[in-house]
Amino acid sequence: MKRCDVVVIGGGAAGLSAALLLSRARRKVLVVDAGQPRNAPAAHMHGYLSRDGMPPAELLTTGRSEVAGYGGEIVTGTVADLVPDGRTGFWVLLDNGQRISTRRLLVTTGLHDELPDIPGLSERWARDVLHCPYCHGHEVRDQQLGVIGGTQAP
Ligand SMILES: Cc1cc2nc3c(=O)[nH]c(=O)nc-3n(C[C@H](O)[C@H](O)[C@H](O)COP(=O)(O)OP(=O)(O)OC[C@H]3O[C@@H](n4cnc5c(N)ncnc54)[C@H](O)[C@@H]3O)c2cc1C
Repeated sequence: MKRCDVVVIGGGAAGLSAALLLSRARRKVLVVDAGQPRNAPAAHMHGYLSRDGMPPAELLTTGRSEVAGYGGEIVTGTVADLVPDGRTGFWVLLDNGQRISTRRLLVTTGLHDELPDIPGLSERWARDVLHCPYCHGHEVRDQQLGVIGGTQAP
């Protein structure tokens, strides 16, 4: 089995950016990605210079091909465990039983949004329940808005 220089855990924008730089630096890089980026429910991304209005999946498809162009590998899967290999690196264990040997790890697993338990909210998430005025405020400009948030008074 070949040993990687770096395994990047999570192939969203952060992980692919890192993988691009590392593979350009001629490191042997492998990205393991579970394929659930935080903005997956959004139809378009905004406020990202040169990519405004692009579907989020398109950014990642382009990023993956840029990484692959420098020899970086991308594997679909979920990292279930990390085990020191007794030398200077790690075994990366995937939930499908695959094992990868690496000298270094980069964790770019993003955030998970925990939505409030309000009926109908999760169905509307990223459509008309919006988390970020900078990303999506323009799309609902001049409409009547409600705000969910803050802490409950004691
Ligand atoms: C609804 C919504 C809309 C948004 N719209 C915009 C926008 O318009 N413009 C903008 O600039 N930003 C927007 N954002 C913010 C943007 O989504 C984040 O800034 C961006 O996704 C962060 O990238 P990331 O690589 O850190 O994490 P993510 O994109 O979340 O990627 C992390 C990746 O790691 C994977 N992963 C997690 N755990 C494991 C594991 N154990 N093994 C393998 N893989 C794993 C996940 O499946 C995922 O693919 C939006 C966010 C949300 C929620």
